[in-house]
Amino acid sequence: MSQNERSSFARLMEFAAQCRGKMAVSVLFAILGAVCGMVPYFAASDVIVRICTGEPELGTVAADTAIALAGYLGSVWLGTLSTVVSHRSAYTVLRNVRMALADKLSRVPLGVVTGRPSGSFKTLIMDTVEKLELPLAHMIPELTANLLVPILIFAYMFYLDWRIALVSLATIPLGIVCYMGMLKDYEARYARVLAANKNMDAAVVEYVGGIQVIKTFNQNTRSYEKYMDAVTESRDAKATWFAQTNKYYVPGVVVTSASLLSVLPLGAYLYMTGGMAASTLITCIILSLGLVKPLIQALRYTDSLAMVDSTVKEVSSLLEIEEMDRPSTPVEIPDCRIVFDHVSFGYGSVEVLHDVTFAAAPRGITALVGPSGSGKSTVARLIASFWEASGGTVSIGGVDVRKMPLDQVMDTVSYVTQDNYLFNVSLAGNIRMGRPDATDEEVREAARKARCHDFISELPDGYTTLAGDAGGRLSGGERQRVAIARAILKDSPIVLLDEATAFTDPENEVAIQQSISEFVEDKVLIVIAHHLSTIVNASTIVVLDDGRVSAQGTHTELLENSPLYRGLWAAQSDSRDEECGVRA
Ligand code: ADP
Repeated sequence: MSQNERSSFARLMEFAAQCRGKMAVSVLFAILGAVCGMVPYFAASDVIVRICTGEPELGTVAADTAIALAGYLGSVWLGTLSTVVSHRSAYTVLRNVRMALADKLSRVPLGVVTGRPSGSFKTLIMDTVEKLELPLAHMIPELTANLLVPILIFAYMFYLDWRIALVSLATIPLGIVCYMGMLKDYEARYARVLAANKNMDAAVVEYVGGIQVIKTFNQNTRSYEKYMDAVTESRDAKATWFAQTNKYYVPGVVVTSASLLSVLPLGAYLYMTGGMAASTLITCIILSLGLVKPLIQALRYTDSLAMVDSTVKEVSSLLEIEEMDRPSTPVEIPDCRIVFDHVSFGYGSVEVLHDVTFAAAPRGITALVGPSGSGKSTVARLIASFWEASGGTVSIGGVDVRKMPLDQVMDTVSYVTQDNYLFNVSLAGNIRMGRPDATDEEVREAARKARCHDFISELPDGYTTLAGDAGGRLSGGERQRVAIARAILKDSPIVLLDEATAFTDPENEVAIQQSISEFVEDKVLIVIAHHLSTIVNASTIVVLDDGRVSAQGTHTELLENSPLYRGLWAAQSDSRDEECGVRA
């Protein structure tokens, strides 16, 4: 076990705090089971000794047989008990790991969660963690027993005759040499198998998830090839791993099992020279057969250890993500004016916002416009504390957001994006998430303002329709309007609409923005608008270009002073609200 594996294992045991007692019991049962498993060897050797010494009696043979059977049944019973108890504790550990991961997800910067495909978290929390079940449930008790039994057998043989006991270990150094050969680069080789499996998982998910696009764009062959490549690599990685491992494993097993080669000649010599009784020789020969088998069983756990190591590392990489260091006591803020003061920010090492400075005041719309990728959503995410600025400050009401508790930021800001998630509860329930104590009438009123009351009322079950059932029937625009109703009901002092009406038809978009402008009278409203026509009346329009503020002012001022804004406006006017490759 390498240092890494030990520390991974120790890390894993941190999740087993409340079931260490159960684990100990399972190990104890496994050991007792293994001891019972030795009984048939002793009984068999007794029978053989009696036969060889010419005094076999039916009664004693029957008694030995009964003892052997009892030992065997005892080992099966205790082994089963051990497995049952160890499975219980394994499932508790799995539960604890999953709870820790989910808890961590709620505490890491939101950007970490939203920036990764949700499937990757599902795979980690469900599938990767599940892989711990087998090693946890089987490895701990069985490995302990498999290591302890040979020690007990050796001790007993040593008691019978120390020379034969020592010689019975003669093949073990050779076995160890083979085992060392097997362990050489084992981690790297096994890592290829695990990576290939992971890649195959991703390829399957992509192939099945994207089947509609694949068929529509007739990409069947290419996508199938990608899938096939991943499956083939998985086969090749496993086959190579098996070939390389078996090169050492098979000779190792053969050599180590051949303890008779050393025990038999020495035993025979000792017997013939009068140094050992026939009964001792027979017992030692039979015991030496039981000495090596458990050791070979223990070897099988090498790949389980490698898997535990890789899984714990993957789990730890999420658990070790730095959390936002925020105070827990809410801060008094006089108003909700947002100020970006020379803000820079990058996802990882690449800076995407450079020296951004602007202010968004209450009462009035502040619009962010600019080509796709210019940093508009990133600005919104910094306000909502999905991420924190790496340079400069983002402040709300004059207070650096880093000095505000996350809960307070979440209460203060409503962030509506175009990817609106609807939970599979009723549509009323989805809207009510904005304010759980809202009355039915308040929910309806918010829906009216977000222009979704009419289409919800037309559904057979109205507001009680489950979002999952309605999912197929709701258009993208309708889903967005439900999310906007949720934000209207939340009634927070800052509202961020990040292309929140992108899928809404222009007529409804204007109407929704109208109601939002009414309800945000004294609020700070920041809009990243899909159609520039909807923000011509904004009090300030900030034009972003490649992560920098290229200009700011009113629509009329910018038409005059900003060539970029003029270009964006002209492109949209020409195409009459059609997409023309420019998100604005
Ligand atoms: P906009 O909203 O104007 O389209 P974004 O703020 O989404 O622009 O993106 C600004 C830049 O940051 C782009 O270059 C984009 O590729 C990059 N970016 C956005 N989100 C992430 C992310 N989660 N991880 C890494 N880079 C990102």
